[in-house]
Amino acid sequence: MNDRSHAPRPQPSEAIRLMNHAAPWPWRDGRGRPTGPLCGMGSCFSCLLPDDDGRCRRTCLPQMGSHPNTLRAAPRPTPYDVLVVGGGPAGLEAAVEAAKRGRSVGLVDARAALGGQVWRGEDVDSSPARELIAKARALGVNVHLNSEVLIPLPDRRLVLRTPRGLEVFSGDHLILATGARELFLPFPGWTLPGVFGLGGLQAHLKGGLDLAGRRVAVAGSGPLLLAVTRLLLRRGAEVVGPFEQAPRNRVVRFAFHTLTREGGLGDLLRHRRAALRLRCGAWCLEALGTEHIEGVRIHTRTGVVRERVDALACAFGFVPETRLGRLLGAETRHGAILVDDTQKTTLDGIFAAGEVTGIAGKNAARWEGRAAGAAAAGAKLTASCARRLLRGRQFGRRLAGAHRLRAELRNLANPDTIICRCEGIRLRDLAPEWSPREARILGRLGMGPCQGRVCGPILAFLRGASDGSQPRAPLSPMTGAEWAALDDILSSEGDSRS
Ligand SMILES: Cc1cc2nc3c(=O)[nH]c(=O)nc-3n(C[C@H](O)[C@H](O)[C@H](O)COP(=O)(O)OP(=O)(O)OC[C@H]3O[C@@H](n4cnc5c(N)ncnc54)[C@H](O)[C@@H]3O)c2cc1C
Repeated sequence: MNDRSHAPRPQPSEAIRLMNHAAPWPWRDGRGRPTGPLCGMGSCFSCLLPDDDGRCRRTCLPQMGSHPNTLRAAPRPTPYDVLVVGGGPAGLEAAVEAAKRGRSVGLVDARAALGGQVWRGEDVDSSPARELIAKARALGVNVHLNSEVLIPLPDRRLVLRTPRGLEVFSGDHLILATGARELFLPFPGWTLPGVFGLGGLQAHLKGGLDLAGRRVAVAGSGPLLLAVTRLLLRRGAEVVGPFEQAPRNRVVRFAFHTLTREGGLGDLLRHRRAALRLRCGAWCLEALGTEHIEGVRIHTRTGVVRERVDALACAFGFVPETRLGRLLGAETRHGAILVDDTQKTTLDGIFAAGEVTGIAGKNAARWEGRAAGAAAAGAKLTASCARRLLRGRQFGRRLAGAHRLRAELRNLANPDTIICRCEGIRLRDLAPEWSPREARILGRLGMGPCQGRVCGPILAFLRGASDGSQPRAPLSPMTGAEWAALDDILSSEGDSRS
């Protein structure tokens, strides 16, 4: 990998420094009410704070967009044989497989470090991540961190915001390994400071958030409940829960199934302390407090309980991050990018791997990455890889079945509950008959900086429909200066291609 990949380990984000030291927290929502970071991965924009010059920055990420070179079109990077978007397990495996076969490989990621959502902080020193990153380095994979794809162009070219400004990258083959986001569901109080997503809190803890000695409720759905509980216990927090909305029989059946998977027993043993505390058929009804969360009301099988807490981690599984693929024109099925047996999308030269093709965990993501990297380099899929892909898909189906969301969760929000955090839109502001498109045009839902990443799937769940909202370019908000730079870049691109 070239020098840019040896970026120093990111320092605690500004959000983490503020949460550890500032009281009260400085974040406010669109209507000036106290709020706080939710997703920990740059998609919710609830951690926005204004710069001195009035521009807003996402404080949960290393600063981007305020780089002095943002206004200048940076030199064009060399086109790659294979350009991989996403440096998580799937993207890393894909890059290694393609590079092994002698292809020139570029790997871009919006984050400041490789590893994706799962290998963060000290996890990057764990063996699979460390070995994979070392392999990529040895094979000469060209890594561009802090580089977010904003706009796809024809012919597999992508406009990125990089530390040097806007740049156009291209590849003869593209591999989309953009992962997933968490699914949040609204309940009264979910916008209060101190209410996080599960992965959101996990990301902040791995980044240096200190909750030692604090009472933290953990609720929602899926295996991440156990991972977050385990991490909180190891970091000295007192955990209330975890509370899993799915019924116990489904969760137990799923646990037995995971035991039969490679590494399943080890996973269960590692999480046994958290697993023993798991309470199924239970979910958070309300976060209590005015300036910061002070308590929670939880529905349990034996009645509603009220607990005093300092924080809450709550999310309901994942939503594949398909926006780039959809903007490129790839077909989707069940909310994920549709791929064939070789991980090829419905578009020529474009492959997809990992959670963007369906939620099935990091092992499946790694095998899909290998398959996509090999296929993009023109190699045939081995029989053992094909078997692993099949097993991964079966696991994904079991995971989804076991943690299917119960209908009661549709009734958690009351008319005053905020649905769109960016624009402060409440449930009562949305006419029940509106389609997602009408909710956007008539109700401004999803018109804020997160562009529907949080509220789009929420509306879909509340209405029992698929998320019909169409992604729009750019994938993250751009400044006026960046739009001007884009004009220059596109006209010089046009010149050089004519
Ligand atoms: C918040 C969160 C926490 C999670 N924690 C765990 C956990 O503890 N344990 C576990 O087993 N699983 C966890 N998961 C599930 C986990 O994501 C997967 O199992 C695994 O990481 C999937 O790998 P992937 O490579 O498909 O995606 P990811 O690991 O999500 O990697 C995708 C990468 O693509 C990048 N990306 C996306 N869009 C763009 C863009 N436009 N431009 C540039 N880069 C982009 C992202 O920055 C990210 O690094 C978590 C998921 C989330 C969302």
